[in-house]
Formats: sequence, C-alpha cells, structure tokens
Amino acid sequence: MIRKFAIGLAAAALLLAPPRLLASPAFEAMLRQAEAVRSSEPKQFEALLGQLNASIGSASAAQREQLDYLKAYQLSYSGRYDLGIQAAKELFEKSRDVSVRFRAGSLIVNSYASTRDFAEGLRYLNQTLALIDQIKDPELRHHAWAAGGSISNHVGSYEDGIRYAELMLGDSPSPRTACFAGALRMEAWYNLGQLKDREDELNALISQCVAAGEPIFINYARAYRARQMADLGDRNEAVVFLSQFLPEVEATRYPRLIGEVHSTLAAIYLAAGDFGSAEHHARRTLSQGASMSSSAPLVTAYRVLFESALQRGDTAAALAHHINYFDANQAYVDEVKARAYAYQQVMGETREKTQAIELLSRQNQVLQLQQQVDAQQQRNTLLLVALLAGLLGTIAFWAWRTKKAQLLFRRLAETDALTGISNRMHFSRRAEEALEYCRKDGEDAGLVMFDLDEFKAINDRFGHAVGDWVLKQVADACSAICRKHDRFGRLGGEEFAFLLVGCDLGSSIALAQECRKRIAAIDTAPTGHVFRITASFGVAGTRGCGYDFLTLLSRADDALYRSKREGRDRVHVHGLDTAPGAVPTA
Ligand code: GH3
Ligand code: MG
Ligand code: MG
Repeated sequence: MIRKFAIGLAAAALLLAPPRLLASPAFEAMLRQAEAVRSSEPKQFEALLGQLNASIGSASAAQREQLDYLKAYQLSYSGRYDLGIQAAKELFEKSRDVSVRFRAGSLIVNSYASTRDFAEGLRYLNQTLALIDQIKDPELRHHAWAAGGSISNHVGSYEDGIRYAELMLGDSPSPRTACFAGALRMEAWYNLGQLKDREDELNALISQCVAAGEPIFINYARAYRARQMADLGDRNEAVVFLSQFLPEVEATRYPRLIGEVHSTLAAIYLAAGDFGSAEHHARRTLSQGASMSSSAPLVTAYRVLFESALQRGDTAAALAHHINYFDANQAYVDEVKARAYAYQQVMGETREKTQAIELLSRQNQVLQLQQQVDAQQQRNTLLLVALLAGLLGTIAFWAWRTKKAQLLFRRLAETDALTGISNRMHFSRRAEEALEYCRKDGEDAGLVMFDLDEFKAINDRFGHAVGDWVLKQVADACSAICRKHDRFGRLGGEEFAFLLVGCDLGSSIALAQECRKRIAAIDTAPTGHVFRITASFGVAGTRGCGYDFLTLLSRADDALYRSKREGRDRVHVHGLDTAPGAVPTA
C-alpha cells in the first residue's frame, strides 16, 4: 500500500532534467550555471534567473527559449504549477527546436503528475514521446521516460512503468537515473505482487541509490526491503533494519517518505502484536499532515490504529478509528479509480486518434490508387486515341491512294494515250450528254468531224513517229479553239470530232473553217521535213438532223466524205449542196 510513493517520484523526476548547452558568450555562461544549480540551489537559481532576465537584450532567440524553459521549470518547481504548465505549453507549441519542445513536454507531464491531473499528463506524455526519435541527448530521453514511468505507475499501468524504467536502465543511465529507474520498477513490481523474490534486486537498488547520493530513494527502497523481510516472516529483523534509518529519513523532511516509512513500521509492529509501537508509528504517519491525504500510508495508519484499539478492547477508540479508516480508504480507493479512469480515457482517445489516422491513411491510399488508375486510364485513352488516329490516317491514306488510282484509271480509260484528248468512247458519252442537255433546253448544237488527208502517205514518207507527231500537233491546235462546254475527241486513227454546244450551223461551219486553217498552218520543221498537213471536214447540225448522236455523226461523216471526194482540205455541211468553206484558205 505505498502507491502514493509515485507522487514523490514524479516530483523527484523534476530534478532529473539535464543541463542544456548552447554556444554563446556571457549570457550562455549564466544560462549554464542556472541549469547546473536549478535543482540543488533554488535560491541561487532564482537569483540567476533574475540576472538573466536583466540582460535578456543580449540573448539570441535560442537563448531566450532556454531562459523561458528555466522560468517554466522554476515556476513548477516552486509549486506554481499552473503558471509553469502555461509557460511550458507555450514553448511546446511554438518552439522550432525539437529539444526545447521535448524538455517543455516532459516538464508539462511532470507538472500534471504533481497536480494529479493524470489525464492531461498522459496526453502530453504521448505527444512528447512522439518526438523521442529526434532526441540525441540521452539525458533528455531519460527525463521523458522517467516522467512516463512515474505517471504510468500513478495510473496503475505498472507494465508501462516497468517498460519505461527498463528503457532508461538499458540506455547507459547515470547513477542518479539508474537509481530513479530502479525505484520506479520496484514500485511497479510491488504493485503487481512480483517483488517477493527480488531480494537481490532490492539490495542492488539500495546500493545504486547510495552511490547516487539520493537519500529519498534509498529510504523508499529500504521501506520496501523491510516489508519484504516481514512478508518472509522476519518481522523483528525488518523492524530493526528499518528503524536504524529513521533519523536519516526524518532529516530529509520529505513528508511522503516519512509517512511511508512510519506506516510500514506501524503495519509490521501491528502484525508482531506490539500495539504500542504500532500506534506510535501510525500517529507519526498522521502527523505528516495534509500532504498525506488520499494516500496509502494514511489508510495503513488508520487501519493500524483501528485494529490495535480493537485488539486492546478499546471499542470506542476502535469505532472512531474505523470511521477515519473507512473515510481514508474510500478517498484513496476513489482516487485510484479516478486515476485508472483517466488512464482508460486517454488510452481510448489515443486509440481513436490512431484509428482515425489509420482510416485517413487508408483513404489516402485509396485516393492514390484511384489517381494511379486515373492516370493509367488517361494513358490508355491517349494510346487508344493515338491508335485510332493512326488507323484513321492509314485508312485515309489508303482511301486517298485508292481514289487517286481510280481517278488515274478513269483518266486512262477516258483519254487517248497519244494525244491526251478524249477517246472515242468518252467523247461519245460526253457528246450524248451534251446533246440531251441541248435538246431539253431547245438549244442548237453542231457536230464537226474531220479526217487528215493522205495521212498514210505521211507515215509512209516520214515514218510512223512523224505520223504520231502530226496527230499530236493536230489535237493541240484544235483543242485550243474549243470553248468550255464544247466536246472534242479522237474517234480513231486520224479521225477527230467536235460537239459544239449552243452553236447553230453557221457557228459550227466557222469553227470547222478555223480548225481547218490551224491544221494547215502547222509548221512541220521540227520533224526535219517540210510537208503540208490538211484535213477534210464534215458538219451536221441538230436543226437538220435532230439530237441523236449517232445520226449526227453519220451525217457529218457523209459530209466529210463529200469533202474527200471533192478534193480534200475543205468543209462540207450535211444538207447544203454547196460547201460554205469549200474553197481552201492558205
Ligand atoms: P485519205 O485522204 O483518203 O483519208 O487517205 P489516207 O491515207 O489518209 O487514208 P487511209 O485510210 O488509207 O490511211 C490511213 C492511215 O492512217 C493508215 C494508218 O496506218 C494510219 N494510222 C492510223 N492510226 C495511226 C496512228 O496512230 N499513227 C500513225 N502514225 N498512223 C496511223
Ligand atoms: Mg481515215
Ligand atoms: Mg485520212
């Protein structure tokens, strides 16, 4: 029943905050000095803080934060916890230096432990320990673990208490830290009922705390050792052992420790049947005053007084002590419950936060996956678009090639290869179309046909190539006088024909004459020979022959042969006895 011991440990943990070094001149030296004496020489510490405050003008931003931390420490250490916590919180929230934040966090945890606000202490413990991976100074880490162990023991989370203690013990602690960590572990073991067989560990702890010069911890450990001895049946030995240190215990003037030791002795004496001594030590416990309220030693003291009075047969006193015992026990149990509740509350919050963070990170993962899927889809779409574009391009290219080929074939099929003008079939079709158009519109049309004269002789005299040249020259010369809607073609061999849209017979004859003159004017010098080219013409008009193409062609052919018969190089018109242009013109 020495759980209240943890309060003492928490207060003592304040002493463990290590000095912090920063490079800078006079101000820095003063800061270091203040760090060094802050727990051992409170008055000097306060005086130094005053001097530091006076020369704040020369301090760097980092040094100001150091001073702010020391001021917060001083406030808490002197019992002004609210102000100390407020100042430390400001540093914890605002400082950019992780070490400063960490020290401030540890101070907040210890201060809350001292004011018994364990829920807030645990909250800041979690936030402070979240920074521990960034803390290189082992003393700073030990300070936070010490606060963690102390507060864990307070709220009955003894496994955590052992864990924090062992983190310190495994991290090359100073003798002082080793003593404190050992004391924390001892307290946790005791409350878990695991201290009984740990005689060696207890003796080692006492030696460690003796080496560290920590009388409070030494004597806490001795009280445990005495209890252990009594539990093992050595009550007298336990009493003798613990009693010898009473002067040393009283000299610490630390009420918690004094109450702890006296209540331990009271309980052992009661068990041994020495009611006088038991009651004496119980009263010494009670004389420690208000600082013992809601504590296990207080409950023990009242229990001892009650049971002792009962054993002595003083029922009136027993009843009075029982009432006090009942009240003290109730207050103590209530507080233990409240602490356990605070612990559960904070752990619940922490779990909720962790779950919320996990949920967020899962949502984040889903979002990231979604983004990846979107990006992939985008790539796929682009790829598809590129593929389709490529496909469309290919199709368009092939369509264009096919169309071009078609046009080429069509042109080849419609064109006379030698002269480049329409061949007979194409000329016939276009002429039929044009005649149909004229027939519908009631327009005149004329068909002019001509055949080169004595062409066989040209071939024979100058060769076939010259004959071909002549055919081309004739085609070019006659194409040049063709109007937009007129049709011109090679009917075969050295025979050609025009279909003249909108031309009456007179206009048709005029065109035939013009054509005849142009042929006759062809200069044959490029062939290397000089010879005359002439042609005989036959003309037929729709007024006399109608709009049927073959009829017109046949009538024009008749007229053409008349031109041949009558001496060539002339124009004859179907239906007219006298050829209008029969007289050749040079
Ligand atoms: P006419 O004045 O009575 O029309 O006498 P002609 O010699 O012009 O008529 P004919 O029908 O006897 O001869 C036509 C010649 O035209 C026969 C043929 O070899 C020649 N010919 C036909 N097509 C071509 C061709 O594409 N190139 C060449 N060089 N000669 C051709
Ligand atoms: Mg002929
Ligand atoms: Mg001929």
